[in-house]
Amino acid sequence: MGRIQALPLSVVNRIAAGEVVERPASVVKELLENALDAQPGRVDVTVEQGGIALIRVVDDGCGIEAEDLPLAVSPHATSKLRVAEDLDQIATLGFRGEALASIAEVSRLVIRTRTADGTGSRLEVDGGINRGVIPEGCSPGTAVEVHQLFGKIPARRAFLRTPATEWSHAAEAFVRTALAHPETGFSLTHNRRQVHDLPATDEWRQRIAGIFGRQLADRLLEATETDGDVTVTALIGRPEDDMASGRLQHFFVGKRPFRDRSILHAVQEGYRGRLLSGRQPIVFLRLEVPPLSVDVNVHPAKMEVRFRDPGRLHRLVLSTIRRALLGLEGPTALRPPGTTSLPVDDEPATAERAAAGLAAAEAIWQQQVAPTARAKEAGATAAAAGNSQADVTVAPAWEQAEAAQQAALPLEQPAEPPQERAFQLHNRYLVVETESGIEVIDQHALHERVLYEQLRERVAAGNLEVQALLVPERVELTPAEFELVTGHLTALGEAGVRVESFGGSTVVVQAKPALVGRTPAAEIIREVIDRLAALDAAGGDRRLVVEEVLHSLSCRAAIKAGNPLSQPEIDTLVADRHRYPGARHCPHGRPTSLMLSRQELDRQFRRT
Ligand code: ADP
Ligand code: MG
Repeated sequence: MGRIQALPLSVVNRIAAGEVVERPASVVKELLENALDAQPGRVDVTVEQGGIALIRVVDDGCGIEAEDLPLAVSPHATSKLRVAEDLDQIATLGFRGEALASIAEVSRLVIRTRTADGTGSRLEVDGGINRGVIPEGCSPGTAVEVHQLFGKIPARRAFLRTPATEWSHAAEAFVRTALAHPETGFSLTHNRRQVHDLPATDEWRQRIAGIFGRQLADRLLEATETDGDVTVTALIGRPEDDMASGRLQHFFVGKRPFRDRSILHAVQEGYRGRLLSGRQPIVFLRLEVPPLSVDVNVHPAKMEVRFRDPGRLHRLVLSTIRRALLGLEGPTALRPPGTTSLPVDDEPATAERAAAGLAAAEAIWQQQVAPTARAKEAGATAAAAGNSQADVTVAPAWEQAEAAQQAALPLEQPAEPPQERAFQLHNRYLVVETESGIEVIDQHALHERVLYEQLRERVAAGNLEVQALLVPERVELTPAEFELVTGHLTALGEAGVRVESFGGSTVVVQAKPALVGRTPAAEIIREVIDRLAALDAAGGDRRLVVEEVLHSLSCRAAIKAGNPLSQPEIDTLVADRHRYPGARHCPHGRPTSLMLSRQELDRQFRRT
């Protein structure tokens, strides 16, 4: 007998299952896609133990004929594609005909279904073994249950993470799908608790609000642009609502979530100059393109797609993002005092304040090089051009006018450090005469560092002053975010942020460190979530978590670029940099100051 043999079908299926079914979240995704292809009015998802014990997806769509049921769970059987040419014009989410077969191979699958004029039937497949179809009455539509995923395949089961982690991935899959289909109603229930109830809507912002909360949705900027048969719709975050990760970036082509480097690049390009390097905007982006101009048949589970004209899409996305942000630049973007920003607080609007300031800050960090090298470069430019290519751009007048409202820098008793002469430039840089030359300081970066060191010192000494909020602040979260926050209440408390769960997936912040002043709790919580999400993936111990919370606090509470400072505030901040050894770099590792030595000045002016 030859050595090469065709694999038995069950082995083929199991290999395919490995590609399609990686974890509970992939089952949620596949079942949701099937449900949506059946044109339902609503879809209800139930998950138990993160989806490891049970995933149930119920739709009120077209249902499956009893005679078709066995085919639905056999590989490469689909109702959505007949001939190869159909592959060029895929309008449905599924088309490979392998999802149900793969899932049935690695779990106990039960399907109950009924077409509008049928009577209903039930099919069960256990670990790939078909138990047959029996008549069973049910309401029109289809209910698919997946029990004990990988229950009989220890090798695969071993790769599953904790139910909490699997749950957060499953919830993420749900969220992505629900975002893509606002016109369908959805619900999500985990361990008997309903975590999402999303009524059908024809407004994307409404769906975003249903998932991420009104606070976030109401602040999104919106723009739509069309070029021929391509339309881009963007709902994007204000620059000052930036995040530490790209967690809140959702891209869709038609109804399909996707990731694409070039599109992401276009978005970042659109924000260029408005975000500090390393910070990510909130982005909800939808592309409408003709079916022939996108190939979705690239990978069974990954979210890659291939566009026929990527250059054109890039340009269109870029201009849509710019248009959405445009409103921020003119004086019309000024909001009347009293309207609230993302975090609900008694503080006056902080909306546009930071936008232009960040632009200037970004200018510097973009060409970020070692501080000394930069100083040299600055000197060289000055010598060559006769005027320093200022790193600082002039703040628009409207911004200066608005800047006056920022909370004051907490005054600390300056200790013995040398009294240096310092002044503020463009409301964002401090220029200091030092013994050896001059130093230019980024006020935000330095204050962030100082705050961080102060917080850390106090936490370590056990004398962090915590301020109970007069009105505890509620923060709406997604289920996954809620899970993350409530999983770290002790660490949060240790860092001075007292949080309690409030029902649904809302938390209430009861207290925060006095040092962070009036920084809205919602801002702090979002920053914390952002950082913990990244940390959790790497498996974080409590000390690391406390650190991240302290980083979040200092990042959010630090004075921003664009804030005018009083002379005592300037002096305090400048003196503080001597007290904290790490103050030369902000906690992100960006430099907080640039030096230009007198020697260098002398050399440049040919005095030596
Ligand atoms: P695909 O979605 O790629 O066609 P699947 O294995 O996911 O492959 O599903 C196989 C077939 O089962 C589908 O083509 C469809 O006809 C049928 N089916 C699966 N789920 C549903 C559902 N919720 N409602 C109606 N039909 C369904
Ligand atoms: Mg499918």
